[in-house]
Amino acid sequence: MTQHPDATVRSQLQLPRNTRAHLWRDVPDAAWNDWQWQLKNRLNTIGELAQVIHLTPEEEEGIRANGIFRVDITPYFASLIDPDDPTCPIRRQVVPTGRELVPFEAEMADSLAEDRHSPVPGLVHRYPDRVLMLITTQCASYCRFCTRSRIVGDPHQNFSPEEFEAQLDYLRRTPQVRDVLLSGGDPLVMSPKVLEGVLRELRKIEHIEVIRIGSRVPIFMPQRVTGELCEMLAQFHPLWMNVHVNHPKEITPEVADAFDRLSRAGIPLGSQTVLLRGVNDHPVVMQKLMRELVRVRVRPYYIYQCDEVHGAGHFRTSVAQGIEIMESLRGHMSGYAVPTFVVDLPGGGGKVPVGPNYVISQGPGRIVLRNFEGYIGTYTEPSDYAGPDMAIPPEWVRQEPGQRGVSGLLSGEALAISPQGFDDVHQRGGEPHRLNRDPVKWQPRGIGVE
Ligand code: SF4
Repeated sequence: MTQHPDATVRSQLQLPRNTRAHLWRDVPDAAWNDWQWQLKNRLNTIGELAQVIHLTPEEEEGIRANGIFRVDITPYFASLIDPDDPTCPIRRQVVPTGRELVPFEAEMADSLAEDRHSPVPGLVHRYPDRVLMLITTQCASYCRFCTRSRIVGDPHQNFSPEEFEAQLDYLRRTPQVRDVLLSGGDPLVMSPKVLEGVLRELRKIEHIEVIRIGSRVPIFMPQRVTGELCEMLAQFHPLWMNVHVNHPKEITPEVADAFDRLSRAGIPLGSQTVLLRGVNDHPVVMQKLMRELVRVRVRPYYIYQCDEVHGAGHFRTSVAQGIEIMESLRGHMSGYAVPTFVVDLPGGGGKVPVGPNYVISQGPGRIVLRNFEGYIGTYTEPSDYAGPDMAIPPEWVRQEPGQRGVSGLLSGEALAISPQGFDDVHQRGGEPHRLNRDPVKWQPRGIGVE
Protein backbone atom coordinates (compact mmCIF):
# COMPACT_ATOMS: atom_id res chain seq x y z
CA MET A 1 0.00 0.00 0.00
CA THR A 2 1.41 3.39 -0.91
CA GLN A 3 1.16 6.04 1.75
CA HIS A 4 -0.50 9.31 0.76
CA PRO A 5 2.28 11.89 0.11
CA ASP A 6 0.77 14.32 2.63
CA ALA A 7 0.03 11.77 5.37
CA THR A 8 1.38 12.64 8.82
CA VAL A 9 1.46 10.67 12.04
CA ARG A 10 0.36 13.87 13.78
CA SER A 11 -3.09 13.75 12.18
CA GLN A 12 -3.76 10.34 13.79
CA LEU A 13 -2.97 11.32 17.37
CA GLN A 14 -5.47 11.95 20.15
CA LEU A 15 -5.83 15.56 21.20
CA PRO A 16 -5.82 17.26 24.61
CA ARG A 17 -8.84 18.69 26.42
CA ASN A 18 -10.39 21.87 25.05
CA THR A 19 -8.86 21.61 21.60
CA ARG A 20 -10.37 24.42 19.54
CA ALA A 21 -9.71 25.61 16.04
CA HIS A 22 -8.37 29.15 15.88
CA LEU A 23 -11.78 30.44 14.67
CA TRP A 24 -13.42 29.68 18.03
CA ARG A 25 -10.52 30.53 20.32
CA ASP A 26 -12.37 33.44 21.96
CA VAL A 27 -15.80 31.85 22.28
CA PRO A 28 -16.76 31.91 25.98
CA ASP A 29 -16.69 28.48 27.65
CA ALA A 30 -20.38 28.76 28.50
CA ALA A 31 -21.25 28.98 24.80
CA TRP A 32 -18.73 26.35 23.70
CA ASN A 33 -20.07 23.87 26.25
CA ASP A 34 -23.68 24.49 25.26
CA TRP A 35 -24.90 21.84 22.83
CA GLN A 36 -27.44 24.23 21.31
CA TRP A 37 -24.58 26.63 20.48
CA GLN A 38 -22.67 23.75 18.91
CA LEU A 39 -25.67 22.88 16.72
CA LYS A 40 -26.29 26.50 15.71
CA ASN A 41 -22.68 27.12 14.73
CA ARG A 42 -22.10 24.06 12.56
CA LEU A 43 -20.00 24.44 9.43
CA ASN A 44 -21.61 23.68 6.12
CA THR A 45 -20.37 26.05 3.42
CA ILE A 46 -17.10 26.20 1.59
CA GLY A 47 -16.38 29.61 3.12
CA GLU A 48 -16.98 28.36 6.66
CA LEU A 49 -14.93 25.20 6.18
CA ALA A 50 -12.10 27.17 4.59
CA GLN A 51 -11.78 29.18 7.83
CA VAL A 52 -10.84 26.00 9.67
CA ILE A 53 -9.01 23.78 7.18
CA HIS A 54 -6.98 24.19 4.02
CA LEU A 55 -9.35 22.56 1.58
CA THR A 56 -7.97 20.44 -1.25
CA PRO A 57 -9.38 20.84 -4.79
CA GLU A 58 -11.05 17.44 -4.35
CA GLU A 59 -12.77 18.59 -1.16
CA GLU A 60 -13.87 21.84 -2.80
CA GLU A 61 -15.35 19.82 -5.65
CA GLY A 62 -17.29 17.69 -3.15
CA ILE A 63 -18.66 20.61 -1.17
CA ARG A 64 -19.73 22.44 -4.35
CA ALA A 65 -21.37 19.42 -5.96
CA ASN A 66 -25.10 19.43 -6.51
CA GLY A 67 -27.25 16.91 -4.68
CA ILE A 68 -24.48 15.86 -2.32
CA PHE A 69 -25.40 14.36 1.06
CA ARG A 70 -25.89 17.02 3.69
CA VAL A 71 -22.80 18.66 5.19
CA ASP A 72 -22.79 19.88 8.78
CA ILE A 73 -19.93 19.67 11.26
CA THR A 74 -20.08 20.83 14.88
CA PRO A 75 -17.33 23.29 15.89
CA TYR A 76 -16.19 20.79 18.53
CA PHE A 77 -15.68 18.01 15.95
CA ALA A 78 -14.26 20.36 13.32
CA SER A 79 -11.61 21.38 15.88
CA LEU A 80 -10.28 17.81 15.86
CA ILE A 81 -9.50 18.06 12.13
CA ASP A 82 -5.89 18.47 11.11
CA PRO A 83 -6.11 21.60 8.90
CA ASP A 84 -3.10 20.63 6.78
CA ASP A 85 -3.36 16.87 6.37
CA PRO A 86 -6.07 15.63 3.99
CA THR A 87 -5.61 12.09 5.36
CA CYS A 88 -6.77 13.15 8.85
CA PRO A 89 -9.27 10.44 9.88
CA ILE A 90 -11.68 12.99 11.36
CA ARG A 91 -11.59 15.09 8.22
CA ARG A 92 -12.19 12.15 5.89
CA GLN A 93 -15.35 11.21 7.75
CA VAL A 94 -17.13 14.54 7.53
CA VAL A 95 -15.64 16.66 4.74
CA PRO A 96 -17.03 15.60 1.35
CA THR A 97 -14.85 14.97 -1.67
CA GLY A 98 -15.64 14.63 -5.35
CA ARG A 99 -15.21 10.88 -4.96
CA GLU A 100 -18.68 10.68 -3.40
CA LEU A 101 -20.08 11.36 -6.83
CA VAL A 102 -18.42 8.36 -8.45
CA PRO A 103 -20.92 5.52 -8.92
CA PHE A 104 -19.80 1.95 -8.27
CA GLU A 105 -21.07 -1.50 -9.04
CA ALA A 106 -23.70 -2.79 -6.59
CA GLU A 107 -24.39 0.63 -5.04
CA MET A 108 -27.93 1.25 -3.87
CA ALA A 109 -29.87 3.96 -2.11
CA ASP A 110 -31.17 1.52 0.52
CA SER A 111 -28.66 -1.31 0.36
CA LEU A 112 -29.95 -3.05 3.48
CA ALA A 113 -33.54 -2.91 2.14
CA GLU A 114 -34.62 -1.35 5.42
CA ASP A 115 -37.64 0.32 3.88
CA ARG A 116 -38.74 -3.04 2.46
CA HIS A 117 -38.58 -4.58 5.94
CA SER A 118 -40.67 -1.81 7.48
CA PRO A 119 -44.27 -2.75 8.28
CA VAL A 120 -44.85 0.97 8.97
CA PRO A 121 -42.64 3.93 7.97
CA GLY A 122 -39.47 4.09 10.05
CA LEU A 123 -39.91 0.79 11.89
CA VAL A 124 -37.60 -1.89 10.54
CA HIS A 125 -38.60 -5.34 11.75
CA ARG A 126 -35.82 -7.49 10.32
CA TYR A 127 -34.94 -9.89 13.16
CA PRO A 128 -37.29 -12.09 15.18
CA ASP A 129 -37.41 -10.32 18.55
CA ARG A 130 -36.24 -6.78 17.94
CA VAL A 131 -36.92 -3.72 15.83
CA LEU A 132 -35.07 -0.67 14.67
CA MET A 133 -37.18 2.43 15.30
CA LEU A 134 -36.14 5.47 13.29
CA ILE A 135 -37.37 8.50 15.16
CA THR A 136 -35.55 11.37 13.50
CA THR A 137 -33.60 12.08 10.34
CA GLN A 138 -31.36 14.71 11.97
CA CYS A 139 -27.80 14.27 13.26
CA ALA A 140 -25.26 16.50 15.00
CA SER A 141 -22.81 16.13 12.10
CA TYR A 142 -23.14 14.04 8.96
CA CYS A 143 -20.90 11.07 8.13
CA ARG A 144 -20.02 10.86 4.46
CA PHE A 145 -20.58 7.08 4.43
CA CYS A 146 -23.99 7.13 6.13
CA THR A 147 -25.94 4.00 5.35
CA ARG A 148 -29.21 5.89 5.67
CA SER A 149 -28.26 8.86 3.51
CA ARG A 150 -31.48 8.26 1.55
CA ILE A 151 -33.42 9.93 4.39
CA VAL A 152 -30.91 11.25 6.92
CA GLY A 153 -30.26 14.98 6.88
CA ASP A 154 -33.44 15.76 4.98
CA PRO A 155 -35.91 17.58 7.24
CA HIS A 156 -38.73 16.75 4.77
CA GLN A 157 -38.20 13.06 5.47
CA ASN A 158 -38.73 13.47 9.21
CA PHE A 159 -41.39 11.29 10.81
CA SER A 160 -44.80 12.79 11.44
CA PRO A 161 -46.77 12.36 14.72
CA GLU A 162 -49.08 9.97 12.79
CA GLU A 163 -46.11 7.87 11.75
CA PHE A 164 -44.81 7.76 15.36
CA GLU A 165 -48.23 6.61 16.43
CA ALA A 166 -48.26 3.93 13.71
CA GLN A 167 -44.83 2.72 14.92
CA LEU A 168 -46.03 2.53 18.52
CA ASP A 169 -49.26 0.88 17.48
CA TYR A 170 -47.31 -1.84 15.61
CA LEU A 171 -45.18 -2.43 18.70
CA ARG A 172 -48.23 -2.62 21.00
CA ARG A 173 -49.76 -5.36 18.88
CA THR A 174 -46.54 -7.32 18.24
CA PRO A 175 -45.60 -9.18 21.44
CA GLN A 176 -42.78 -10.91 19.58
CA VAL A 177 -40.76 -7.69 19.94
CA ARG A 178 -38.83 -7.51 23.20
CA ASP A 179 -36.03 -5.11 22.22
CA VAL A 180 -36.34 -1.72 20.51
CA LEU A 181 -33.33 0.12 19.09
CA LEU A 182 -33.96 3.84 18.70
CA SER A 183 -31.95 5.35 15.91
CA GLY A 184 -32.37 7.66 12.95
CA GLY A 185 -30.61 10.06 12.39
CA ASP A 186 -29.60 10.49 15.97
CA PRO A 187 -32.17 10.36 18.79
CA LEU A 188 -29.96 12.52 21.04
CA VAL A 189 -30.38 15.60 18.84
CA MET A 190 -34.13 15.51 19.32
CA SER A 191 -35.84 17.89 21.66
CA PRO A 192 -35.48 16.36 25.13
CA LYS A 193 -39.27 16.45 25.63
CA VAL A 194 -40.01 14.56 22.43
CA LEU A 195 -37.39 11.90 23.17
CA GLU A 196 -38.68 11.49 26.70
CA GLY A 197 -42.22 11.14 25.32
CA VAL A 198 -41.14 8.31 22.98
CA LEU A 199 -39.31 6.52 25.79
CA ARG A 200 -42.32 6.89 28.08
CA GLU A 201 -44.65 5.40 25.49
CA LEU A 202 -42.28 2.49 24.88
CA ARG A 203 -42.02 1.76 28.59
CA LYS A 204 -45.81 1.42 28.76
CA ILE A 205 -45.60 -1.61 26.45
CA GLU A 206 -45.15 -4.55 28.76
CA HIS A 207 -43.49 -6.97 26.36
CA ILE A 208 -40.68 -4.51 25.51
CA GLU A 209 -37.94 -5.58 27.87
CA VAL A 210 -34.99 -3.57 26.61
CA ILE A 211 -34.63 -0.17 24.96
CA ARG A 212 -31.43 0.69 23.15
CA ILE A 213 -30.28 4.00 21.69
CA GLY A 214 -27.83 4.19 18.80
CA SER A 215 -26.01 7.52 18.84
CA ARG A 216 -22.97 9.36 17.56
CA VAL A 217 -23.82 12.50 19.54
CA PRO A 218 -21.33 11.76 22.37
CA ILE A 219 -18.64 11.79 19.67
CA PHE A 220 -19.82 14.76 17.59
CA MET A 221 -21.02 16.84 20.51
CA PRO A 222 -20.16 15.48 23.98
CA GLN A 223 -21.59 18.72 25.40
CA ARG A 224 -25.05 17.20 24.79
CA VAL A 225 -24.47 14.49 27.41
CA THR A 226 -25.54 16.66 30.31
CA GLY A 227 -26.38 15.48 33.80
CA GLU A 228 -30.00 16.35 33.02
CA LEU A 229 -30.04 14.11 29.93
CA CYS A 230 -28.50 11.22 31.89
CA GLU A 231 -31.09 11.62 34.64
CA MET A 232 -33.89 11.58 32.08
CA LEU A 233 -32.54 8.46 30.37
CA ALA A 234 -32.01 6.66 33.67
CA GLN A 235 -35.78 6.66 34.25
CA PHE A 236 -36.19 4.14 31.47
CA HIS A 237 -33.94 1.26 32.46
CA PRO A 238 -33.05 -1.27 31.24
CA LEU A 239 -31.68 1.16 28.66
CA TRP A 240 -28.50 0.47 26.71
CA MET A 241 -26.58 2.71 24.38
CA ASN A 242 -24.44 1.94 21.37
CA VAL A 243 -22.11 4.73 20.37
CA HIS A 244 -20.60 4.96 16.91
CA VAL A 245 -16.81 5.44 17.11
CA ASN A 246 -14.44 4.96 14.21
CA HIS A 247 -11.01 6.20 15.25
CA PRO A 248 -9.04 6.60 18.51
CA LYS A 249 -8.77 10.34 17.85
CA GLU A 250 -12.52 10.60 18.46
CA ILE A 251 -11.99 9.61 22.09
CA THR A 252 -11.06 12.97 23.59
CA PRO A 253 -11.10 13.80 27.31
CA GLU A 254 -14.51 15.44 26.72
CA VAL A 255 -15.86 12.26 25.12
CA ALA A 256 -14.41 10.14 27.95
CA ASP A 257 -16.25 12.38 30.43
CA ALA A 258 -19.49 12.03 28.48
CA PHE A 259 -19.14 8.22 28.50
CA ASP A 260 -18.43 8.35 32.22
CA ARG A 261 -21.63 10.32 32.87
CA LEU A 262 -23.66 7.81 30.85
CA SER A 263 -22.04 4.85 32.63
CA ARG A 264 -22.69 6.40 36.03
CA ALA A 265 -26.34 6.72 35.03
CA GLY A 266 -26.33 2.93 34.73
CA ILE A 267 -26.36 2.84 30.94
CA PRO A 268 -24.21 0.01 29.56
CA LEU A 269 -22.22 1.33 26.62
CA GLY A 270 -21.28 -0.60 23.49
CA SER A 271 -19.58 0.65 20.36
CA GLN A 272 -20.12 0.23 16.66
CA THR A 273 -17.36 0.93 14.18
CA VAL A 274 -17.57 1.07 10.41
CA LEU A 275 -14.52 -0.28 8.62
CA LEU A 276 -13.48 2.68 6.46
CA ARG A 277 -10.73 2.99 3.91
CA GLY A 278 -8.28 5.69 4.96
CA VAL A 279 -9.81 6.03 8.41
CA ASN A 280 -9.37 2.79 10.34
CA ASP A 281 -8.50 0.03 7.84
CA HIS A 282 -5.21 -0.74 9.57
CA PRO A 283 -4.83 -3.41 12.26
CA VAL A 284 -2.82 -1.07 14.49
CA VAL A 285 -5.46 1.68 14.31
CA MET A 286 -8.20 -0.80 15.21
CA GLN A 287 -6.16 -2.29 18.05
CA LYS A 288 -5.62 1.18 19.47
CA LEU A 289 -9.32 2.03 19.06
CA MET A 290 -10.49 -1.13 20.84
CA ARG A 291 -8.06 -0.59 23.72
CA GLU A 292 -9.15 3.03 24.08
CA LEU A 293 -12.82 2.03 24.10
CA VAL A 294 -12.31 -0.47 26.90
CA ARG A 295 -10.29 2.12 28.82
CA VAL A 296 -13.31 4.45 28.79
CA ARG A 297 -15.64 1.56 29.73
CA VAL A 298 -17.22 1.03 26.33
CA ARG A 299 -17.55 -2.57 25.19
CA PRO A 300 -16.63 -2.97 21.49
CA TYR A 301 -19.70 -4.56 19.91
CA TYR A 302 -19.52 -4.53 16.11
CA ILE A 303 -17.15 -3.67 13.29
CA TYR A 304 -19.24 -3.29 10.16
CA GLN A 305 -18.11 -3.88 6.62
CA CYS A 306 -18.95 -0.60 4.85
CA ASP A 307 -22.32 -0.87 3.13
CA GLU A 308 -22.81 -0.69 -0.62
CA VAL A 309 -24.55 2.61 -0.30
CA HIS A 310 -24.52 5.46 -2.77
CA GLY A 311 -21.71 7.92 -1.98
CA ALA A 312 -19.66 5.51 0.13
CA GLY A 313 -17.78 3.68 -2.64
CA HIS A 314 -14.41 5.23 -1.83
CA PHE A 315 -14.69 4.22 1.82
CA ARG A 316 -15.13 0.53 1.09
CA THR A 317 -12.40 -2.01 1.77
CA SER A 318 -12.14 -5.68 0.93
CA VAL A 319 -13.81 -8.03 3.41
CA ALA A 320 -10.40 -9.69 3.69
CA GLN A 321 -9.06 -6.53 5.32
CA GLY A 322 -11.69 -6.89 8.03
CA ILE A 323 -10.71 -10.51 8.58
CA GLU A 324 -7.05 -9.55 8.86
CA ILE A 325 -8.02 -6.92 11.44
CA MET A 326 -9.99 -9.50 13.43
CA GLU A 327 -6.95 -11.79 13.32
CA SER A 328 -4.94 -8.95 14.87
CA LEU A 329 -7.46 -8.49 17.69
CA ARG A 330 -8.51 -11.95 18.91
CA GLY A 331 -5.96 -13.28 21.39
CA HIS A 332 -3.88 -10.11 21.20
CA MET A 333 -6.15 -8.36 23.66
CA SER A 334 -8.82 -9.28 26.19
CA GLY A 335 -12.02 -10.73 24.79
CA TYR A 336 -13.77 -7.60 26.15
CA ALA A 337 -11.95 -5.61 23.51
CA VAL A 338 -12.83 -7.85 20.58
CA PRO A 339 -15.99 -6.93 18.68
CA THR A 340 -17.75 -9.04 16.07
CA PHE A 341 -16.95 -8.21 12.46
CA VAL A 342 -20.13 -8.35 10.38
CA VAL A 343 -21.18 -7.95 6.79
CA ASP A 344 -24.71 -6.57 6.70
CA LEU A 345 -25.98 -8.51 3.72
CA PRO A 346 -27.40 -6.33 0.95
CA GLY A 347 -31.08 -6.84 0.25
CA GLY A 348 -31.96 -7.28 3.92
CA GLY A 349 -30.03 -10.45 4.71
CA GLY A 350 -28.99 -8.98 8.04
CA LYS A 351 -25.68 -9.08 9.86
CA VAL A 352 -23.48 -12.06 9.13
CA PRO A 353 -20.46 -12.53 11.40
CA VAL A 354 -17.23 -13.04 9.47
CA GLY A 355 -13.78 -13.79 10.80
CA PRO A 356 -10.75 -16.01 10.72
CA ASN A 357 -11.42 -19.74 10.85
CA TYR A 358 -10.18 -21.39 14.02
CA VAL A 359 -11.50 -24.91 13.31
CA ILE A 360 -8.79 -26.89 11.51
CA SER A 361 -10.52 -30.24 11.40
CA GLN A 362 -13.10 -32.41 13.08
CA GLY A 363 -13.79 -36.12 13.48
CA PRO A 364 -15.96 -38.27 15.76
CA GLY A 365 -15.06 -37.26 19.32
CA ARG A 366 -12.31 -34.80 18.46
CA ILE A 367 -11.99 -31.29 17.15
CA VAL A 368 -8.70 -29.73 16.05
CA LEU A 369 -8.41 -25.99 16.63
CA ARG A 370 -5.77 -23.35 16.16
CA ASN A 371 -5.20 -20.30 18.33
CA PHE A 372 -4.07 -16.78 17.43
CA GLU A 373 -0.40 -17.81 17.64
CA GLY A 374 -0.81 -20.69 15.25
CA TYR A 375 -0.69 -23.33 18.00
CA ILE A 376 -2.80 -26.28 16.83
CA GLY A 377 -4.40 -28.38 19.53
CA THR A 378 -7.07 -31.02 20.03
CA TYR A 379 -10.16 -30.94 22.19
CA THR A 380 -11.50 -34.39 23.04
CA GLU A 381 -15.26 -34.40 23.35
CA PRO A 382 -17.11 -36.51 25.96
CA SER A 383 -18.24 -39.85 24.53
CA ASP A 384 -21.44 -39.93 26.64
CA TYR A 385 -22.88 -36.53 25.78
CA ALA A 386 -26.28 -36.60 24.08
CA GLY A 387 -27.43 -32.98 24.45
CA PRO A 388 -29.16 -31.06 27.26
CA ASP A 389 -31.53 -33.03 29.53
CA MET A 390 -33.30 -30.34 31.58
CA ALA A 391 -36.99 -29.38 31.45
CA ILE A 392 -37.56 -25.98 29.88
CA PRO A 393 -40.32 -23.62 31.12
CA PRO A 394 -42.62 -23.41 28.07
CA GLU A 395 -42.99 -19.64 28.43
CA TRP A 396 -39.25 -19.30 27.76
CA VAL A 397 -39.69 -20.71 24.28
CA ARG A 398 -40.10 -17.71 22.04
CA GLN A 399 -42.51 -17.54 19.15
CA GLU A 400 -40.52 -16.43 16.13
CA PRO A 401 -42.66 -17.50 13.22
CA GLY A 402 -40.76 -18.26 10.06
CA GLN A 403 -37.36 -17.25 11.39
CA ARG A 404 -35.92 -20.31 13.13
CA GLY A 405 -33.50 -20.69 10.24
CA VAL A 406 -30.49 -22.99 10.62
CA SER A 407 -31.13 -23.31 14.35
CA GLY A 408 -34.49 -24.88 13.41
CA LEU A 409 -32.65 -27.47 11.30
CA LEU A 410 -30.40 -28.36 14.22
CA SER A 411 -33.33 -28.73 16.59
CA GLY A 412 -35.15 -31.05 14.17
CA GLU A 413 -37.96 -28.65 13.24
CA ALA A 414 -37.29 -29.11 9.54
CA LEU A 415 -35.11 -31.15 7.24
CA ALA A 416 -34.06 -28.39 4.86
CA ILE A 417 -34.36 -24.75 3.95
CA SER A 418 -34.97 -24.48 0.23
CA PRO A 419 -34.90 -21.48 -2.09
CA GLN A 420 -38.16 -20.03 -3.32
CA GLY A 421 -39.57 -22.15 -6.17
CA PHE A 422 -37.28 -25.12 -5.39
CA ASP A 423 -40.07 -27.73 -5.60
CA ASP A 424 -41.49 -26.29 -8.84
CA VAL A 425 -38.08 -26.29 -10.52
CA HIS A 426 -37.47 -29.90 -9.54
CA GLN A 427 -40.85 -31.10 -10.77
CA ARG A 428 -39.64 -30.07 -14.24
CA GLY A 429 -43.20 -29.35 -15.33
CA GLY A 430 -44.23 -32.99 -14.87
CA GLU A 431 -47.68 -33.98 -13.68
CA PRO A 432 -48.11 -35.81 -10.35
CA HIS A 433 -47.76 -39.55 -11.00
CA ARG A 434 -47.93 -42.80 -9.07
CA LEU A 435 -44.40 -42.44 -7.65
CA ASN A 436 -44.44 -38.81 -6.53
CA ARG A 437 -48.03 -38.23 -5.49
CA ASP A 438 -47.71 -39.08 -1.81
CA PRO A 439 -45.57 -36.54 0.16
CA VAL A 440 -45.49 -38.81 3.22
CA LYS A 441 -42.57 -40.71 1.72
CA TRP A 442 -40.35 -37.63 2.11
CA GLN A 443 -41.30 -36.98 5.72
CA PRO A 444 -38.40 -38.15 7.89
CA ARG A 445 -39.49 -39.81 11.11
CA GLY A 446 -39.19 -37.40 14.05
CA ILE A 447 -38.21 -34.32 12.05
CA GLY A 448 -40.65 -31.50 11.47
CA VAL A 449 -43.31 -33.04 13.71
CA GLU A 450 -44.68 -31.59 16.94
S1 SF4 B 1 -24.47 9.81 12.83
FE1 SF4 B 1 -25.25 7.87 12.00
S2 SF4 B 1 -27.19 8.41 11.02
FE2 SF4 B 1 -26.03 10.33 11.32
S3 SF4 B 1 -24.92 10.64 9.44
FE3 SF4 B 1 -23.55 9.50 10.81
S4 SF4 B 1 -23.91 7.36 10.30
FE4 SF4 B 1 -25.63 8.52 9.44
